[in-house]
Amino acid sequence: MTASQGVATRSRWSDEAARAAIARWGAAGEQLALRVYTSRLIGEDTDLVLHGGGNTSVKGTFRTLLGDEVECLWVKGSGSSLDKVEPRDFPALDLAYLRRLRALDALSDEEMVNQLRTHLFDASSPNPSVEALLHAFLPHTFVDHSHADAVLVLTNHADGEGLIREALGKRVAILPYIMPGFPLAKAVAEIVERSGEIEGVVLIKHGLFSFGKTAKESYERHVELVAACEALAEKKAAPRTTASVPAARPLAEIAPLLRGLLASDPGESPKRLVMEHRGGREVLAALADASVARLAGTGTLTPDHVIRTKAWPLLVGAGDDLAASVKRFRERYDVYFERAAATKTTKLKKLDSAPRVVLVPGIGALCFGKSKADAIIAADITEHTLRSKWTGERLGGYESLPDGDLFDMEYWSLEQAKLGKAAERVLERQVALVTGAAGAIGRGVCDALAEAGAALVLVDRDEAALAKAVGELEPRFGRGSAIAVVADVSDDAAVRAAFDRACEAFGGVDIVVPNAGIALVRPLAELSGADARRVSDVNYIGVLATLREAERVFRAQGTGGSVIVSASKNVFAPGKDFGAYSASKAAALQIAKIAAIELAPLGVRVNAINADAVFAHGETPSGLWQEVGPDRAKSRGLTMAELEEFYRNRNLLRAKVEAKHVGAAVVFFASGKTPTTGATLPVDGGIAEAFPR
Ligand code: ZN
Repeated sequence: MTASQGVATRSRWSDEAARAAIARWGAAGEQLALRVYTSRLIGEDTDLVLHGGGNTSVKGTFRTLLGDEVECLWVKGSGSSLDKVEPRDFPALDLAYLRRLRALDALSDEEMVNQLRTHLFDASSPNPSVEALLHAFLPHTFVDHSHADAVLVLTNHADGEGLIREALGKRVAILPYIMPGFPLAKAVAEIVERSGEIEGVVLIKHGLFSFGKTAKESYERHVELVAACEALAEKKAAPRTTASVPAARPLAEIAPLLRGLLASDPGESPKRLVMEHRGGREVLAALADASVARLAGTGTLTPDHVIRTKAWPLLVGAGDDLAASVKRFRERYDVYFERAAATKTTKLKKLDSAPRVVLVPGIGALCFGKSKADAIIAADITEHTLRSKWTGERLGGYESLPDGDLFDMEYWSLEQAKLGKAAERVLERQVALVTGAAGAIGRGVCDALAEAGAALVLVDRDEAALAKAVGELEPRFGRGSAIAVVADVSDDAAVRAAFDRACEAFGGVDIVVPNAGIALVRPLAELSGADARRVSDVNYIGVLATLREAERVFRAQGTGGSVIVSASKNVFAPGKDFGAYSASKAAALQIAKIAAIELAPLGVRVNAINADAVFAHGETPSGLWQEVGPDRAKSRGLTMAELEEFYRNRNLLRAKVEAKHVGAAVVFFASGKTPTTGATLPVDGGIAEAFPR
């Protein structure tokens, strides 16, 4: 249920769950345990907060090492999400000291952060919320803050105050928009002192604070206030229209074009973005409504969304030129930046000017971030934003904060800090497609690519093995970081569909690893044309199909790319009874060299890896060695285990060649650190007769 479908928000407090919370987190104190419990209740409701939005606190006493009992504020740390908080996510602060800060006339953001950090009781705590002083200045034991959709629907309106009064009467105080920080903390404290008996404060175009003596009281007041706002919106909003717009062209076609246009710094190392698409019924209905053209020009629901979605989305109509539309957005952003930056005393560095949300009626919302995780956050915010703006419009007109306020939030150092300053991994922002991904080498390559930060499209014809591979990758690298596409590379249409899936799931592809292959042990005298064709269809024609589709997507994006073909040491050092395999791999390597020549003008590098004697990756055995091994072992009078040892001793370095080594070579080529194309890199421990020549 959602705000637009009636009153959905209600208390989910349960005495039993509260007792369980005390049992689980009671070591940190009963009050903090209950604080964690109701914080999670708020965090789990996406109509209240999304991804790190909102914050909560509790006040009590802290016992120091010397045994002193001092007043303490536990407030949510910056960067954690309410739905997953633990007691350790609530840094403990010297409350008596913080209260005294209220006497100051002004306090810069940097000094505020410094004051908070230097008055922690545990130096290893995370940074307290940017709204920590607001919590400190309020007298109440429990304080809960959300950016509830329903509150934003009413406050992002020309008569926001009137609507809130109508919904909540005298239960709350109402404060016009003030940017978070010291002045807001003081203003909230003052209005609460002047207001007598109230349950909370509504901050226009920002959100709701509620408070109470107990965790339950503050939480239940919070949800009751939100529910009353939902009820009013439901009562007053005009009914929805039910228009629909047909998709002008498929998502798989438009996504790579947009992804290319949104990349910044095209050329040597473009800063790409990864996409998440939302095209559910409600999204399509909102985009089909006549109001969408006006709403697309309005700002975010609450200011802290701006760091995820930019101030406004880009709306692209059916007949619009994509490149011209993106260019116009960038120009608008540049004006927005220059106009606001000119009023500041400090010099600001402009962030990239590309939209993060592209609305395409008939197709949906295409949301972008520097990783799949960031794109998902932008998409979740966008779904709530579309719904809330549309409700606001039906209430008489959605009205956002002016650009200047959104700018202040987007460029606030404390907001940007939430995005983290960790150095980007070498393949972050990129999407990799690997064929034969469920096999031993494929698994090793996928692991290495994911560790380097790439999102993954795993292609294989073995559905069960593929599901297992994705099932192991996703928990390690995040929801949506890897998808499975069942396809046989010898089927042109299936390969095309796999690339389309990649475009629908991530917006496109940057790294392609044609790795699917089959082996066949047979002397030439017994090798039928049908057998040779079967091997060739996968090992050679399959690579050709993969290269062809890769080129199609690379061309649409216009941001270069990298192809790393998994060839074989057999190309240079063939062995008897292995004709079909060696010849097809030789053809694949040759076609890779042609691709290197043909794709260079697109900025695409094509290289190959000749691996040898990779028997398994973890528990995944090599299909090739399952086919070839028994015969080779028999002819040498060895067991399979001895065969592995035999191959190890055969190479110059006496190295055990592993799938992770192939993965490291793929990551090296994909990183583009050297201007190399058309090359073949052996990963075989050194075999003189297989040296590339
Ligand atoms: Zn807030």
